[in-house]
Amino acid sequence: MLLTTRGLSKVLQLTLAVIKPDAVANPVILEALHQSILDNKFAIVRRKDLVWKRQDSQKFYAEHSERFFYQRLVEFMSSGPMRAYILAREDAIRHWRGLMGPTKVFQARYSSPDCLRARFGLTDTRNTTHGSDSVESAQREMVFFFPDFKAEDWLETEEPAFRSGRIRYDSQKHVHVQT
Ligand code: UDP
Ligand code: MG
Repeated sequence: MLLTTRGLSKVLQLTLAVIKPDAVANPVILEALHQSILDNKFAIVRRKDLVWKRQDSQKFYAEHSERFFYQRLVEFMSSGPMRAYILAREDAIRHWRGLMGPTKVFQARYSSPDCLRARFGLTDTRNTTHGSDSVESAQREMVFFFPDFKAEDWLETEEPAFRSGRIRYDSQKHVHVQT
C-alpha cells in the first residue's frame, strides 16, 4: 500500500465510469447519477459526452465477444449518447463498482436495492453504468475514452491537491479543479 508522510493518507486511485445510453436518454436519471457521484465523494477529473460507433463498442467489449449477450451489448452501447468520467477517490475502483451494484439489474434490485443499477437499470444489458474492474482495466479504459489523459502526470501534478481537498467543483464545466 502506498502511503505518504503527509497525514498518512492513501494516494487517490483513478477509475473510468460511464453512464450508458439508457440512463443518458433520461435527463432526470442522468442528473441523479451525476449527483450520486458528487454525493459519494468522488472527484471528477474529466468528463465527456460522446456517441460510440459500432466498432468502438466491439473493441471496448472484445473480452466478451464469445458471450451470448455480446451482440446485444454492442448494439446497445452504440445506440445513443453516453457520458464518460474519470473519477478520483481512495479505492475509487472498488467504491464505484460498489455504488453501481451487481451487473444484473434484477439481481441488484433483490440484493442491493439502493445501488445505481437497482434504482435506474432497465435490463441486464441496459444497466445504467459501467465501471473499471481493476487497476489495469482502469488504465486501458481511461485511455480508450480520454486518449490525451496521462494518469501518471495527473498523479504527479494534481493528485496531492485533490487528496488534501484543495479543489472546488466547477459547476460550469462539471469537473473538480484545483483551488
Ligand atoms: N451484460 C449483459 N448480460 C449479461 C451480463 C452482462 O447484457 O448476462 C452486459 C451488461 O451491460 C454489462 C456488460 O455486459 O454491464 C459487461 O459485462 P460484465 O460482466 O463485464 O459486467 P460489469 O463489469 O459491467 O458489471
Ligand atoms: Mg466488466
